[in-house]
Amino acid sequence: MEAILGPIGEFWEGFLSNPIVQLASQLIVIYVVLLWLGTAYWAFRDMQARTENPILPYFAAALIIFFTPLLFLFAVVLFLIVRPRETLAEVYERSLAEESLLAEVEKNELCPVCRDRVDSDWLVCPNCRTRLHRVCPSCNRLAEPTWSLCAFCGTDFGRESSKAARQSGRSAAAVESAEAADNVTSGADATAEHARLRGATNT
Ligand SMILES: [Zn+2]
Ligand SMILES: [Zn+2]
Repeated sequence: MEAILGPIGEFWEGFLSNPIVQLASQLIVIYVVLLWLGTAYWAFRDMQARTENPILPYFAAALIIFFTPLLFLFAVVLFLIVRPRETLAEVYERSLAEESLLAEVEKNELCPVCRDRVDSDWLVCPNCRTRLHRVCPSCNRLAEPTWSLCAFCGTDFGRESSKAARQSGRSAAAVESAEAADNVTSGADATAEHARLRGATNT
């Protein structure tokens, strides 16, 4: 027994006292310690990305430190199990996606009057004839009926419609005066006056 163990023990002692082996083992120890501290820092940053709580990241780092350089891998497993599933960025992204989905659903709109499904680019509800959109007179794009000016080209619908009202008012006045002329004058004179007025209205 002694004869077998003796040479092995000698070899082992020689191996451990070898300066290269000593240097390598020291480097390994330093590396493991760095890995331990780095993992604690990683847990801190990871927790920061997953919670708005200012204290929890320190707890995560403390958990890794507490498990010592020898056992910290167990702490990593534990941390991976209990940490919040989503990062704050992922939560934000998901809420954005949900919002846009909701907006998409809302865009697939219903007629405000009869609640029938209507397309977002329809002018009139085919079911109840409610006006859904108007066409901008300037750029010919669809404008919401509630807009006071065109969102695409900036045309002021209020001014447009008042101009149109003024125009129709003027033609109404022209018709009135033409009728008055009809009443006063007679025959060919009235017809000529009527034609003149109509010409004036058209220009
Ligand atoms: Zn309708
Ligand atoms: Zn326009």
